Amino acid sequence: MPHRFCAICGTRLDKDSPHFGMCLKCYLSENPLFDLPKNLSLNICIDCGSYSKKDMWILPSENELFSIIKEAIHRFLLKPLIKQNKIDFSLKFEENSLKYSSKDYLKSIEVEIKGNLKGSSEIKHKQVVKLNFNPILCKNCSNLRGGTYFISIIQLRVKDEKYTDLIDNILNEINKFVDKLFEKDPRQYISKLVDQKNGMDLYLSTNELMNSIIKFLKSKYHFLLKRTKKLIGRDSQKGKNLYRLKTSVKFLPIRINDEILISNEYYIVESITKNKIILRSKNNIKLIKDYDYFFSENIMRSKE
Ligand SMILES: [Zn+2]
Ligand SMILES: [Zn+2]
Repeated sequence: MPHRFCAICGTRLDKDSPHFGMCLKCYLSENPLFDLPKNLSLNICIDCGSYSKKDMWILPSENELFSIIKEAIHRFLLKPLIKQNKIDFSLKFEENSLKYSSKDYLKSIEVEIKGNLKGSSEIKHKQVVKLNFNPILCKNCSNLRGGTYFISIIQLRVKDEKYTDLIDNILNEINKFVDKLFEKDPRQYISKLVDQKNGMDLYLSTNELMNSIIKFLKSKYHFLLKRTKKLIGRDSQKGKNLYRLKTSVKFLPIRINDEILISNEYYIVESITKNKIILRSKNNIKLIKDYDYFFSENIMRSKE
């Protein structure tokens, strides 16, 4: 059998060579395992680390520059390749290529991307991609810095001035609760607080936050809840009406075991259900009242 030679480098071909008249090395350089763009431009939010290629901001799992870069490379460059082929990728940051802007934001970095066909040590390829960064504020963070953006409102109310302490305590608890949510997801925050007679209005960044706060309050307090929505415009892109949701939360001015004077008779608050209050007098007379009753009537708590 006559010897065959690589058409490109002239190496003698053996039985393992691909049948294209080329050695494996030359074949792979003519037909690389993958082909990535030489450059990738990314917007990175200087406050929260979210990144985007166009308008869609993605919150990274970790707000640390190198982990954000890895995540972005996977999402924008490697994900389609990993799906199609069975390639294992590894990334190496070229530390010497780091360039910073005058304000010390990372401007660009080169990343060597190596890929190996699964199950083959010979079929591999590597390429350097240069990442260019545009340090800006994402939509959420610019709203946050502006401090005027809100989507929904919770109105916290107590019956009268006697219960201002209750509002202060509740506000404290809500603040702690929202701080924790914000750490996990910077889209959730209280945009502003507005002092009102017998309460406080909370302007919230999302409807989701409004629902979370209500759920949180339900686990600890009894209150009258009223939801309203107001048409504020139209999202022409989605063809949907836009509403502003408002929830009024009126805290019940009594607690379990309070002693209350009703028609010259003392009652103990025995239990509070979703919408009723069950009272019992010293003579064992049972009385059931709606929440509304305690807001409309002048209730005397004997402890005060
Ligand atoms: Zn060759
Ligand atoms: Zn941001």
